[in-house]
Amino acid sequence: MSNKQARFYESVLANFDRAAAYSGLPSGLLKQIRACNAVYQMRFPVKIGNKYEVIEAYRVQHSHHRLPTKGGIRFSHHVNQEEVMALASLMTYKCAIVDVPFGGAKGGVKVSPRSYSENELERITRRYTTELIRKNFIGPGTDVPAPDYGTGPREMAWILDTYQVLKNGEIDALGCVTGKPVSHGGIAGRTEATGRGVFYGLREIVSYADDMAELGLKPGMKGKTIVIQGLGNVGTYTGSICQKEGGAIIVGVSEIEGTIYNKTGIDIDKLVKFRKKTGSILGFPGTTTLKERNDWVGIECDILIPAALESQIREDNADLVKAKIIGEAANGPVTDVAEDMLSKRGIVVVPDMYLNAGGVTVSYFEWLKNLSHMRFGRLQKRFDQNTYSNIVDIVEKTTGKKITNKEKAMIVRGADEVDLVRSGLEETMINAYKQIREIKKRKKKPITLREAAFLNALQKIASDYMQLGVFP
Ligand code: NAD
Repeated sequence: MSNKQARFYESVLANFDRAAAYSGLPSGLLKQIRACNAVYQMRFPVKIGNKYEVIEAYRVQHSHHRLPTKGGIRFSHHVNQEEVMALASLMTYKCAIVDVPFGGAKGGVKVSPRSYSENELERITRRYTTELIRKNFIGPGTDVPAPDYGTGPREMAWILDTYQVLKNGEIDALGCVTGKPVSHGGIAGRTEATGRGVFYGLREIVSYADDMAELGLKPGMKGKTIVIQGLGNVGTYTGSICQKEGGAIIVGVSEIEGTIYNKTGIDIDKLVKFRKKTGSILGFPGTTTLKERNDWVGIECDILIPAALESQIREDNADLVKAKIIGEAANGPVTDVAEDMLSKRGIVVVPDMYLNAGGVTVSYFEWLKNLSHMRFGRLQKRFDQNTYSNIVDIVEKTTGKKITNKEKAMIVRGADEVDLVRSGLEETMINAYKQIREIKKRKKKPITLREAAFLNALQKIASDYMQLGVFP
C-alpha cells in the first residue's frame, strides 16, 4: 500500500476527531459513529484470456444507523482496504449532510479498467456482484452500490442484471443499484449529478458578498477562473456546467497525460471531444502544455477543483497553491496536514462530504423512483400544463392582450423528470450549505468548513442513534 493511501484513512479519522472534539457528544457514541461496521474482503477467480486471475475486492459498510447503506464502486489498481474504509466513512457523513437517509458504504475492485477488454470487465463485475449477493452485501433494503472512479452506467447495468437473474421475482430489485442507464431503471440527470452538484455548491458559496470580500473576491460565479484536475465524469460535468450555466472561465485542465493552460478559457465540451478523438488533452488548440503534469496545483486562479483521486494536495505541494478556494470534487484530495497549511494562508477548502454529495442525492431520487415503480413527473406533468394553460387563457381574456406561442409554451410547460431531479438537487445543495455556514458562523472559535460540515453530520447521526435507543 502506498503512503498516500494509508494517509487517506488516517486523514479522514484525524478530521473526524478534530470535529468530534467540538461536538459535545458522548465518547462511546462518537466511537460507534467513527468505526466501520462491516468490512468484506474477497478474492475470486476470473478467466482472463487463457488464464485465471485472482481478483482482490472489497465492500465496506461504514454505518448501519440507517439502511440501506449506500456508496459507489471503484475500479482502480490503487484499491486497498483502508482506501475503501475511508471512502465508506465519508459516505456516511455525506448522506447526513444532504439529508439522504442512508448509512455509508463503498466498494472497490483492484483492477485497472484500461488493462481489460469490455468482456473481461463484464465478467469481473458480474462475479463481484455474485460475491456481494452471497454475503447479503447488496439489495434495495441492505446495501445499494453506485458508480465511482473507473465505473459508470455500463457496470451498474451488469450489476442489476446479475442481481435480477439470481433474485428472480424480487419486486424492488431495480433499487439494488443506482447510476443505471435510464433505459434500465436509471433516472434522468444521474450521470451529470455529481458535477452539477459541485456547480450548485460552488455557486452558493461564492454568492455571499461578505465571505467573498474576506477572500478578496467579488460575489458570483461569472468570470471566476477555475482549474480542474481529472476530466472524468465529475470533472467534465463540473467544468462544462460551471462554464455554460455559471459563466466561469476554465483556465487549466490536468489529466494523466499532462496539464494544459489558456488564460482566456478552455471550452470543456470541445476538449472532451478532442480527447476522445486523439486520446489526449495535449495539443488542444489555443492551449499551452505546462512542464510537469503536477503543475496544475500552482496555476493562478480563483477556484482549484481536484476531481480525480485522493491525496493530491499534500504537505509537499500545498504551498504552491495560488487559488483562493479549493473545491473538493474528488473524495479526499486535500490531506489534513495540507489543509492546515492552506487554512493558515486564508485559503478556503470546500469539503468533499458536502461538495460532491450531488451523486448520492440523485442516487437517492433514483432509488425512490425504483421503489415507487414510476418515473417522476408522470402524475402531475399534464395536470400542471393544463392548469398553467387555463391561467394564461384567463389572463389573456381579462387583459385583452395575447402572448406569443413561444412565450406560452415556456409558461405552460410541466416539469419533466430531469427538471424535477435538477430542482431537487439544487434545493439540497443550497440548503446543506446554509446549514454548514450557519454552524461555522455560530462557533465563537473560528472553525473550517470541513469541521462545520462534520459537526452538522455528527449531530444528525447522533440523533438517529438516540432515536434507535442505542445511546439513550
Ligand atoms: P472517472 O474515472 O470518471 O474520472 C477520473 C479521471 O481522473 C480520469 O479521467 C483519470 O484519467 C483522471 N486522473 C487520474 N489520475 C490523475 C492524475 N494524477 N492527474 C490528472 N488526472 C488524473 O472518476 P469520477 O467518477 O469522475 O470520480 C472522480 C473523483 O470523484 C473520485 O475521487 C470519486 O470518488 C469522486 N466522486 C465521484 C462520484 C461519481 O458520481 N462518479 C461521486 C462522488 C465523488
